[in-house]
Amino acid sequence: MSIADRLKSVKQSIPSGVELVAVSKFHPASALMEAYDVGQRCFGESRAAELAEKAAMLPDDIVWHFIGHLQTNKVRRVVGCAHMIQSIDSERLLMAVEAEAVRQEKHIDVLLQLHVAAEETKFGLTPDEAYDLAVRVAPSLTHVAVRGVMGMASNTPDDLGRVAADFAAVRDTFDRLAAGPFVGDSRFAVCSMGMSDDRHMAIAAGSTMVRVGSDIFGQREY
Ligand SMILES: *Cc1c(COP(=O)(O)O)cnc(C)c1O
Repeated sequence: MSIADRLKSVKQSIPSGVELVAVSKFHPASALMEAYDVGQRCFGESRAAELAEKAAMLPDDIVWHFIGHLQTNKVRRVVGCAHMIQSIDSERLLMAVEAEAVRQEKHIDVLLQLHVAAEETKFGLTPDEAYDLAVRVAPSLTHVAVRGVMGMASNTPDDLGRVAADFAAVRDTFDRLAAGPFVGDSRFAVCSMGMSDDRHMAIAAGSTMVRVGSDIFGQREY
């Protein structure tokens, strides 16, 4: 199946209120253009250098989401080309992004990445850390808008109960933040969860944004 056909069938599987980020990491610019040519505008990348390279060569109306772990020494590069950073996993990183956005006189959207999965290897804030950050830090931000949360479920295909519980925890944290520190802030509206293999469960649990890579572009080589 072509990328255009796979994109079409992924889109058909997603309800209309749920946004699709096409995760194009490790795929060549030509693959992104196949999706672009059939209307996809929102792409997700997980490495700073790869994002910068693709953003420089591809059309200006692409909306770039950075979804990978971001080291502070790469913040300048990513703030320079991303529209949204989904992977804010520490106060230090949030403050570095704010400082760099001020310096570049640029406004940027972010999501707070939550760690709810079983694996230690995944990055992110605990729900309580995210709440604390939202209370203490978010009101002082001038160039960064916190638009919501992002989370990944445990990679436990034979324990779907755990996957469902992880998504429920992400959505619950989103709801608590929306009703607490972000009450009245209509920008806080994104609950980003669900990838190729688990997006149906994520949508059932209240996802508003899915990040789909391999179901659109095929397998990546790591
Ligand atoms: C790679 C990646 C995805 C997409 O994963 P697929 O299984 O290829 O759909 C989604 N979210 C994040 C944070 C990723 O790193």
